Amino acid sequence: MSTQSLFSSLLPTLEKYFGYTAFRENQREIIETILAGQDTLVLMPTGGGKSLCYQIPAILLGGLTVVVSPLISLMKDQVDALRLNGIKAAYLNSSLSPEEQQQVFRQLRQQELKLLYLAPERLIDAENRFITFLKSINTSLLAIDEAHCISQWGHDFRPEYRMLADIRKALDDVPTVALTATADPVTQQDILDKLQLRQPKVFISSFNRENIYYQVAPKRQSYAQLLDFLAERRDQSGIIYVLSRASTEDLAERLTQDGFPAKPYHAKLASQVKEKHQDEFLKDEVPIVVATVAFGMGINKSNVRFVVHMDLPKNIEGYYQETGRAGRDGLASNALLFYSYADVIKLQGFVEVAGNQEQSRVLREKLQQMAIFADLRSCRRKFLLNYFGEEAPDYCGSCDVCRNDYKTFDGTVIAQKALSAVARLGERFGGGYVIDFLRGSKSEKIWQEHKQLKTYGAGADVSKKDWHRYLNDLLRLGYLQKSDDKFPTLQLTEQSWSVLKGQEKVTLVEIAEPEAITIKSSAKPMDEHLFSLLKGLRRQLAQDENVPAYVIFSDATLQEMATYLPTQPEDLPHISGFGEVKIAKYGSAFLDEINQYCTEHDLDSRMSQLRRRSRKKQAAKPKTDTKQRTYDYYQQGKTIAEIARARNLSTNTISTHLAYFVQNGSVDVTKLVDPATITKIEDAIYVHGNRALKPLKDSLDDSISYDEIRLVIAHQHR
Ligand code: ADP
Ligand code: ZN
Repeated sequence: MSTQSLFSSLLPTLEKYFGYTAFRENQREIIETILAGQDTLVLMPTGGGKSLCYQIPAILLGGLTVVVSPLISLMKDQVDALRLNGIKAAYLNSSLSPEEQQQVFRQLRQQELKLLYLAPERLIDAENRFITFLKSINTSLLAIDEAHCISQWGHDFRPEYRMLADIRKALDDVPTVALTATADPVTQQDILDKLQLRQPKVFISSFNRENIYYQVAPKRQSYAQLLDFLAERRDQSGIIYVLSRASTEDLAERLTQDGFPAKPYHAKLASQVKEKHQDEFLKDEVPIVVATVAFGMGINKSNVRFVVHMDLPKNIEGYYQETGRAGRDGLASNALLFYSYADVIKLQGFVEVAGNQEQSRVLREKLQQMAIFADLRSCRRKFLLNYFGEEAPDYCGSCDVCRNDYKTFDGTVIAQKALSAVARLGERFGGGYVIDFLRGSKSEKIWQEHKQLKTYGAGADVSKKDWHRYLNDLLRLGYLQKSDDKFPTLQLTEQSWSVLKGQEKVTLVEIAEPEAITIKSSAKPMDEHLFSLLKGLRRQLAQDENVPAYVIFSDATLQEMATYLPTQPEDLPHISGFGEVKIAKYGSAFLDEINQYCTEHDLDSRMSQLRRRSRKKQAAKPKTDTKQRTYDYYQQGKTIAEIARARNLSTNTISTHLAYFVQNGSVDVTKLVDPATITKIEDAIYVHGNRALKPLKDSLDDSISYDEIRLVIAHQHR
């Protein structure tokens, strides 16, 4: 097939095999690049839809796609899911018997398979026999999943992955796609180098998980709060993370007794027990797992509706990865963290690496960031995305801070008291001491000489707890800073002086008790009762097939059915997740269930609403056209500013359109940005990385615009 006709069959293939009606961000472009035979690096957050990026090429290309993955436990699920969609796939790893392996080899020789999943060590043998074999059977694509495992800079380095470089060499004419959910630029570059990808095209998706609602609750009576939270999510799947192994078992037992069946999971459980608990969770036989961080890697379950942290994670990276396990199916999900400052103090001991001051300092700083996140009075999503170098608007509307109206007040006097206390104490004491001093504590701890100082007792009218909050706010706002030491002391900043001199006002947030948790997960007019019946049917089918429930259908598919009530066979292709094979296999079971329910409850199908909606969606999507129109103007020789005027759009939008064409090679960046400017921007990228525009803009001359920076970055991604 020509590349062009391959491209035109992308959407039909997506619909036929996966039952989805549209591609997600970047998927189409990635697939086109792979089909065109170019090496590709894909950076996408967990749940972004990486697998489809190589599975669709695998279906369309002649020959075999080899998928290398370190997660043996996932291979079976992936292969089961593909088979249920009518795609021929198999895996080879140590869990198969010799006979089963023979069977796979036979299928490979007869060219019956589209995809083969492999653990990396499987590719290696003394005489490269396996690789020679792969060459002999027409391998057309190599996909390397979890590609960050090749990098020592990543958080999950696997020595076996180093062998992949040799395999790349041996299969040198086979295009390669590397995929990872690790965002950090150093790891990125390392992947490109180690795998020796040839002129790779790099796709970076936003790491925003828009369907996850972030919330933090004070860690007080957290068990009671947890029960309230769970009571609103009966039968929903979730993971609860705790710090210690013992608490996984205690909490799981307590929850089970209170009517929320839960199983513990931690590294020291016997492996059969671990497997059993994981299996029950995957098959929706038990809704909740209470786990240490040992749980999660290798969990692909798409319908995890909530992730709760009973204790503070040690860093934002871990927190984001763990919360990211919620809502892979794209449906509304919750991330709840219970926080108290006592956790920070407790963890300070854990992040101390004996004999390595530098690493200890880094880990302490990361813990501090985690504490700042927990205490945040501004959008949590923005903080998270900025942390990973991505820009974000100030308001996301789906975190607890954005949803809460915080009242502010003029806190200048409070700030002045705190800052002058810090100054008078010579910047040599931590928060606890400063507060005792401000409150005029009579305790022995306060040095005799300090009791003579002017500010001693000036803040006696404010409680200890409130002072903690105010000091944290002052730290966050930059009016104070903490020293780097093991026992950090409070210090003044430049900004402090303008407050002390009365030149600057300080706005603080009024302290109110955070509201109880009241967020509902989704507001669709879905029939809850039918939804739970459909879940029961799915569980049954999953047991019959011996696969995880979400492999049969995602929650999203069940919700669509419980919302629009398909009752006829011709309704099913309109439901997302029903590909041809699944319609044939499961269609009638679900239609029977829904028809019976509609009869009993006197309900009519609402499929016409869904069809209207999807027609609207299609009509509202001439996205590529708008880019194309910009391109047409460009070809007429117009500048960015001229195009913006002609199209009545911002230059920002126009440069984003043109960046697309720069990235795919149709536009030469030097036609838009002069070479001297390109060099300056490239130098800045060398220092600041290329994930966020703002730090680059800040570091460059004012005369260099965001548009120019964007275009140079696009050029680098070519
Ligand atoms: P990742 O590997 O990036 O974590 P997956 O490939 O497992 O993500 O995809 C996450 C979920 O999203 C899966 O249930 C998958 O079937 C679904 N998905 C992927 N692409 C689409 C799409 N275009 N439309 C609807 N669902 C999709
Ligand atoms: Zn927000």
